[in-house]
Amino acid sequence: MSEGLLIVGEEVCAQVVNSKDAFDAVEAVFGAMARGDAYNFPVIREAIGYADALYGFKSGFDKAGKTLGVKSGGYWPGNMAKGLTNHQSTIFLFDPDTGMLQALVGGNYLTAVRTAASSSVSIAHLARKDAKVLGMVGAGHQSTFQLRAAAEQRDFEKVVAWNPHPEMLPKLGAVAKELGLDFEAVTQEELGAQADVIITITSAFEPLMMKDWIKPGTHIACMGTDTKGKQEVDPAILASARVFADEIAQSITIGEAQHAIAAGQIAEADITPIGAVINGDHAGRSSADEITLFDGTGVGLQDLAVASVAAHQAEKQGKATRVAL
Ligand code: NAD
Repeated sequence: MSEGLLIVGEEVCAQVVNSKDAFDAVEAVFGAMARGDAYNFPVIREAIGYADALYGFKSGFDKAGKTLGVKSGGYWPGNMAKGLTNHQSTIFLFDPDTGMLQALVGGNYLTAVRTAASSSVSIAHLARKDAKVLGMVGAGHQSTFQLRAAAEQRDFEKVVAWNPHPEMLPKLGAVAKELGLDFEAVTQEELGAQADVIITITSAFEPLMMKDWIKPGTHIACMGTDTKGKQEVDPAILASARVFADEIAQSITIGEAQHAIAAGQIAEADITPIGAVINGDHAGRSSADEITLFDGTGVGLQDLAVASVAAHQAEKQGKATRVAL
């Protein structure tokens, strides 16, 4: 990128970064993390004691991709009433050679596509090739992005879905229909019985899927648990599955694995970074009957990776604004 600060707004991000771009960027950075070429810095997340907001920073450096930066933002629960997204974020990219601010990139759309890319990467590398039924647990803002990205990885024929607030399901059903997939709202047990791949993307604090409901050979991507105390699945699933994560440090502290670790049902050594599979250093799924579980906690390097794509593409297409600092 040339001199000056590049500004890339939310609308431009949606124009210049599609799910394939996000997949490639996230897959590459997970690989770099597992090789030790990229690392995330400690996450800051604070209740600011105002507007019930949570505010924080996720940052890191990818030496391979030469991406240095920070995503700043958080959760403002009152925003919905103002017609705004509750989750708000902005990504700052810095030149790793000089420390100069290079780009200011809207982070709301990119957060959704990079999170969807994460589960999508896990499906690409871990799900059975013959998977036909996708199970969706959750029907909020992220869920449609998750569904669209997952649909690109396997020849799914049908989506089965469950959500604690069933009135939210038709929006997901409309996206399934748009993708040419059958859609059925089911109970949690039926979802487990039918699905070959399951994505959980809720704000739950207790298990929504139990071990006995899940078929052998299922791949499950747990995407909602990104904070201490949150939980989406029965820890017994982790104990019986081969477990993978975006980053092990986050998986055991704020991810789905926190509960199975605390209960002594699995050890840290039982978790494999998905980057090891991407790099060809781990075989991934070992048999057609094995249950694989991906703990997608969300790391700052994912944000930086997609923001870097957005900045380059926006500049190339003449869609970014450049200002002198
Ligand atoms: P949203 O508010 O739009 O939707 C929330 C979803 O959770 C809905 O399906 C809702 O019915 C369900 N839900 C709400 N309260 C619940 C409860 N107490 N128990 C069970 N389910 C409940 O949120 P979203 O933007 O779709 O995000 C979903 C989750 O994903 C959030 O927890 C968010 O923090 C998390 N998230 C994770 C990542 C990541 O990288 N892993 C990235 C973004 C968001």
